Order: sequence, then C-alpha cells, then structure tokens
Amino acid sequence: MKLRLEDSPEHAEFRSEFIEWLKKVLPQGWTEALAEGDEEKFVAARKQWDVLTWMRIIGESGYAAPLWPKEYGGLSGYTWMQQIIREELGNHRLPLAGINLLGVGLAGPTIIDHGTEAQKERYLKKILTGEEIWCQLFSEPTSGSDLASVGTKAIKDGDEWVVNGQKVWTTIAQFAKFGMLLARTDPDKPKHDGLSYFILDMKSPGVEVRPLKQMTGSSEFNEVFFTDVRIPAENLVGDVGDGWRCARTTLMNERTTLAGLSIDETTFVGGSAKKDPWQVFVDLIPNKKDSLARQQMAQFYIESMVKEITAFRANVKRMKGETPGPEGGVNKVFNAEYNQRKSIFTVDANGLRSVAWTKNDKTAEAISSRFLRARANTIEGGTSEILRNQMAERILGLPREIEVDKDVPFKDIKRQ
Ligand SMILES: Cc1cc2nc3c(=O)[nH]c(=O)nc-3n(C[C@H](O)[C@H](O)[C@H](O)COP(=O)(O)OP(=O)(O)OC[C@H]3O[C@@H](n4cnc5c(N)ncnc54)[C@H](O)[C@@H]3O)c2cc1C
Repeated sequence: MKLRLEDSPEHAEFRSEFIEWLKKVLPQGWTEALAEGDEEKFVAARKQWDVLTWMRIIGESGYAAPLWPKEYGGLSGYTWMQQIIREELGNHRLPLAGINLLGVGLAGPTIIDHGTEAQKERYLKKILTGEEIWCQLFSEPTSGSDLASVGTKAIKDGDEWVVNGQKVWTTIAQFAKFGMLLARTDPDKPKHDGLSYFILDMKSPGVEVRPLKQMTGSSEFNEVFFTDVRIPAENLVGDVGDGWRCARTTLMNERTTLAGLSIDETTFVGGSAKKDPWQVFVDLIPNKKDSLARQQMAQFYIESMVKEITAFRANVKRMKGETPGPEGGVNKVFNAEYNQRKSIFTVDANGLRSVAWTKNDKTAEAISSRFLRARANTIEGGTSEILRNQMAERILGLPREIEVDKDVPFKDIKRQ
C-alpha cells in the first residue's frame, strides 16, 4: 500500500517543473531507464555520474534547500516544496544532500538563524554545492544525552579562541572541512548558560581525527581531539554564551532531517533500486511457509503500515504548509525499534548463514551488516529513552524530569 496525497494545481505545477528540470540535468538515459524499469540501462547512465557532480548541480539550482532564502542558494519556498522534491528525488533514485547531509540539514539552518551576514555569505552556498562538507562536534565521552554538560573548553585569547578537549561519535569528521563545535566558554555559569557555538576549520593545527572501527567493519564516525586549537573570533555563531540556543536549532533540524530520511528511500546517487521495501524483506526470509514465521511477518507488515500512515500524516501537514507535530519523534522511536526487531528476525530466519557465510554470499553479508548497524538506530540522533521522555513531557504533558544541576555553576557539578 502506498499512500499518496493528490496534488493541488499549485503543487502539480511545481512537481512537473521539478521533473522537467531533472530530465534536463540528468545524464542521458537515466529517466528513460527508470520509466522502462531497465536496470542495465540505468547502471550505464549511472556510471556517467558521481555524487559530487550531482551535489554541485542540485546545489546551484535552489532545489537542494527550498526553504533557504534565495540570496543564500534556496528558493525562499514552502515546506510542501521540500516534500515534493524529496518524493521526486526518491522516484529518481537521487539523494537530497548526499554526503553533506549534516551541512544542508543542520549547519546551514543554524547559520541562517544565528550567523552573521559575513558567515552566511561565506558558508551557505558551498554547503549546498557540496564543496565543503560539515560534521557535528557535539557529543563527548561523558556528554551525550545530557549535551549541556559538554566539557571541551574554549578560552578567549585576543582575537582568537583556544580550544582543548575531546569529542566522540563525530560522523564523517574524517572527510569534513568544517565542524559545528559546541564548547564551554564560561564554567562559572550554570551548564546551559556557559556554552558557545563555533565554526571550526577541521584542518586547523591541533585537530586530530581518529576514525573508530565499528562492528560492521566500516568507520562512519570518529573521535576528535583538540590541543590548543585556535579559532578566529569571527567564527563564533551567535553571542558568547548563546551556544545552547544555537545548539537547539541544530538539534531541532537534526530531528527533522532524520524524520525526512525515513521518507526518502535513497541516500546515494542511483544507489537503491526502487523496489518495494516490504518485498525486499520478504525475499530474505527462506522459511516463509513456516506458520510461526508467517505470523511474525504478518505482525511486521501491520507495523510497517502503522509507520507509513504516521509518516503520511506528517507529509499531509507539510503539504498544507504546516509544521508536523509529534509524528517525527514518534516515528523515530518506532522505526528504530522496528528495524532492530526485523533485522533480528531476518538473522534468525537465515540461521548459520547470517553469522558464517561463504565468500561470495553478498546477501548473507548484508543481512549480518544490517543487523549490526541497526543497533545504532536507538542511539543516533537522540536515544529512544530521551525521545520517550520528550514525548511524555511535550505531548502527554507529564511533569518535567528533575534536573538537580540546572542552576549550579558548571565548575561545581560533580563529573566523571
Ligand atoms: C551512529 C551514530 C552517529 C552519531 N553521530 C554523531 C555526530 O555526528 N555528532 C555528535 O555530536 N554525536 C553523534 N552521535 C552521538 C549521539 O547523539 C549520542 O550517542 C546520543 O545522544 C547518546 O549519548 P551517549 O552515547 O553519550 O549515551 P548516554 O547519554 O550516556 O546514555 C546512555 C544510556 O542512558 C540512557 N539515558 C541517559 N539519560 C537518560 C535520561 N535522562 N532518562 C532516561 N534514560 C537516559 C540513554 O538513553 C542510553 O540508553 C552519534 C551516535 C551514533 C550511534
């Protein structure tokens, strides 16, 4: 079942404009191959391209960030435009922001809301064209869910800030040109008030990026160490002590970006074939005729419909120009746990093959890798426990969690 809202004349006009634009810029054979469902022809068209070429083309068009002001590379548009663009990119097997998801989804909106004019001029367009990749330097070994407790220090020295400390979990730091850095500038103030937000050039002397090897075998994220790193004063975003307010903008956009991703099926140029995700799952289950397996699959199917209807409800709000409510958070929690359960079921159904596969059995390798990667789903972008706390407080109106250290100067808080 695929739910779809009928376009209004205005929406239909924008959709066909965008599709026409895609036809013009995509390599020869791309749209025809998709229309004909000819995978071989598609692979040939796909070979003419790479992600950076695509990012430059969409980045220069305004379609990469329809909500951004025109003067900074957007369309000064509406949320429904963003929704249509996402849908059509999915249909054409194209990603919105490619590897610069954190730049387009998180850094850009934060600079637009809190940055100086000079920062907007300097950074925004190069985020959209993918010329400069960004990472998010927030989490630390002892500060994740309690992000306001970050301990990395930034001390003013003339026209510069000197940074010392450590971050962890920093996705794509090894490829990034800039980082959004949250650091402590005043330890005498309570934890939320003594933070500032900086743009850090990742190639500055004293920045050391150490990739972390994950159990999947890849290295998506890193540890980042700072030793006397100097940041020019003009790289401060917002005012000194304004870091928490700026970080909240980044986090809010992180949730929307992640919620958007559950709609997109494609994160690579030409990456995933536009197959029905349900069929992909069913194809991986060898014992479909087993009555217990059938019962569990029926349960997964029902849940996938619940997920789709929730996402659809948020899309309807976007198409009407409204901001979605709790659907994003609800779906993030639901999706993460659903994905983990489904990956466990797939591993069980495939038995030994999931843990010890023969050399060229790519399917078994993918089953194992998906199972291992799914462990991160309930942690990345805010843990399920924290999101449940937020839903309890903001949606159900339950009392706020007690924060004993909220008004205590940061330097007096006991830390590990
Ligand atoms: C794949 C991946 C990519 C990531 N990329 C980035 C990135 O690019 N940049 C970045 O800055 N961060 C990144 N993160 C970090 C991520 O935001 C944190 O891991 C997350 O916020 C949790 O913090 P933590 O790991 O310190 O766990 P902790 O905060 O130490 O939590 C440990 C456990 O305690 C629970 N817990 C904590 N506090 C509460 C509470 N008040 N109530 C109930 N339960 C609680 C948590 O839910 C969790 O189960 C990434 C994480 C992952 C997994």
